[in-house]
Amino acid sequence: MKRLSSLLVCLLTLAACQSKLPATLSSPDGHIGLTFSLTDEGAPRYAVTVNGKPFIVTSALGLEADGVNLTDGFHVTNIECASVDEAWTQPWGENKENRDCHNAMTVSLEGEGGVQMDVEFRVFDDGLGFRYLVDAPQDTVVVRGEKSEFRFAADGESWSIPGDFNSYEHLYRRMPLSEVPDANTPITVKFADDLYASVHEAAIYDYPEMVLRNIGGTAFQSALAPLSMQPGAPCAILDEDFSTPWRTVQISPSAVGLVNSALILNLNEPCKIADVSWIKPMKYVGVWWGMHLGIESWGGDPYHGATTEAALRYIDFAAANNIQGVLFEGWNDAWRGSEALPDFDFTKAAQDFDIEKVLSYAREKGIAFISHNETGGNVPRYEDQLERSFDWLEAGGVHAVKTGYAGGGLVGGIPRHSQFGVRHFQKVVEEAAGREIMIDAHETIKATGIRRTWPNFMTRECARGMEYNGWSAGNPPSHHEILPYTRLLGGPMDYTPGVFDVQYRNIAGKKQVRTWGQPGTECRVNTTLCKQIANWVVLYSPLQMACDLMENYQGHPAFQFFRDFEADCDASKALQGEVGEWIAVVRRAGGKYFYGATTDECARDIVQPLDFLEEGRGYEAVIYADAPDASWKKAPYAYTITQKTVTAADTLTFHLASSGGVAVSFIPIP
Ligand code: CA
Repeated sequence: MKRLSSLLVCLLTLAACQSKLPATLSSPDGHIGLTFSLTDEGAPRYAVTVNGKPFIVTSALGLEADGVNLTDGFHVTNIECASVDEAWTQPWGENKENRDCHNAMTVSLEGEGGVQMDVEFRVFDDGLGFRYLVDAPQDTVVVRGEKSEFRFAADGESWSIPGDFNSYEHLYRRMPLSEVPDANTPITVKFADDLYASVHEAAIYDYPEMVLRNIGGTAFQSALAPLSMQPGAPCAILDEDFSTPWRTVQISPSAVGLVNSALILNLNEPCKIADVSWIKPMKYVGVWWGMHLGIESWGGDPYHGATTEAALRYIDFAAANNIQGVLFEGWNDAWRGSEALPDFDFTKAAQDFDIEKVLSYAREKGIAFISHNETGGNVPRYEDQLERSFDWLEAGGVHAVKTGYAGGGLVGGIPRHSQFGVRHFQKVVEEAAGREIMIDAHETIKATGIRRTWPNFMTRECARGMEYNGWSAGNPPSHHEILPYTRLLGGPMDYTPGVFDVQYRNIAGKKQVRTWGQPGTECRVNTTLCKQIANWVVLYSPLQMACDLMENYQGHPAFQFFRDFEADCDASKALQGEVGEWIAVVRRAGGKYFYGATTDECARDIVQPLDFLEEGRGYEAVIYADAPDASWKKAPYAYTITQKTVTAADTLTFHLASSGGVAVSFIPIP
């Protein structure tokens, strides 16, 4: 939580290294070592050590492309090294101030037919990244696959979702690394009590996503999403001169060290938006959860949720509760067209939604209107309307849009995570940036840190969120203690936490209008109420939703935490925890601190030193805790609120019920 010294200056040292192989590079603190070599056939290889011990044994590098050999036949033409130590800031984030301290090495290779390929490595104290920069002697390069390998020296316990090119909305698997057949990233592994790692990627632009495929034991190879699911489809079509995203391995002696790593952001380019004053984190509520509960609809029937009347009530509720935004899913012309070719109009309101009246009322009350563009995966139709609909939003003073691509993939059978998808999602972000619109994207490409470059890309889904609790067996307790150590390493998630009526008691007997999901499944939220509160802190999102029906918050004493909570934090720290078991996080916003801790199905007691607080100051701590008899199965609503005066010298102990949590606001005493 300490601020970076303002004396820290950017240090960049360039040096020509010995072009003798093997070439070596180490982290600034020396504990991570990387070696680059070529085989006798001129095939590039790398290996990594941690504390002098093999971590990734000799592993292949390279790409597969039509008409150009990018896997062997290379010789080294130059090796260049650099050291960087610079502080940088971002308009929002877990930490607004960051430090990029790494050693870099660019190995320039020349191969058959004069093809040039640079492999660029950066090694930090918390891991490494590498990427390819290709200059081919042809106009277009058709990429068929990638040969980057990660041959781990040892087995470990892993957490991952399957390597699906269309969806990240899977349950996590906990299994030995050697038993993982394929995985999307981030895949996180505990190799030893003091060695955790996570493989992911940084800065995806105009390139398909990477998943990992097991090639034997603990060895994995990258696989790229194809441009179609037809056999033989290429993965990317690129100009002769291109670079790939970074392939990253975060490495830490503790599980929370992975969470505190800024490696993914550090491998992204600085901000490209000149004026970021309009980009602001916020808390929001909205018309959404009723649809997933099956008591409201997106429109076209008498159960439509986003009516003018509901909108005005939600705006009043937000204004009265220190909440800055309201989302209206289903405000626009409802689903038309067929299931295979859904159609929407993004500038035409539903008949019972008086958009002019709602916008003007929101403006009067100082509440942000969060629009919703559900595309059903029909990218061509969306791109046809994109400029017109964003112009229209800009004219209406709307600065935030939630996008959605519901369905099995993009229309036309194109994988969602393909180069085509990545290009589209980026186009939306850039068109939005030009009109001062922030994006919250659902069913989009994974988070790879581009928020540093395009900070209007606030948050995204890209994992199983709250919605699954509305219409399926739901997310198991440990899901919430896996996400911070896996999915959220890539960036913020719009999980939409905060259901207070976790057993849906208050809608019992209401007509179920839903015709989708898993009928007959007994649905609920598999946590205590306090874990829902704690998740507002733990599951970071700069647009943070209190997703329950507002009736469930009105008059509820525990909702005071969300009223006090600030989505715009300055600094964050994951303090304690274990992957899939528990986590404790604190975030500072100005002089206030917000703490959240959650646990899986095992109840546990946490001893929490408060040394993250500013020394020598008194704080009023308001503690929202599971009651002694609470449990997610039998007594999820049992909670206590207690107040204490504390300082940084104090230690608090908390009891967390099974799938429970604790949330604390620390307000400085003047
Ligand atoms: Ca979704």
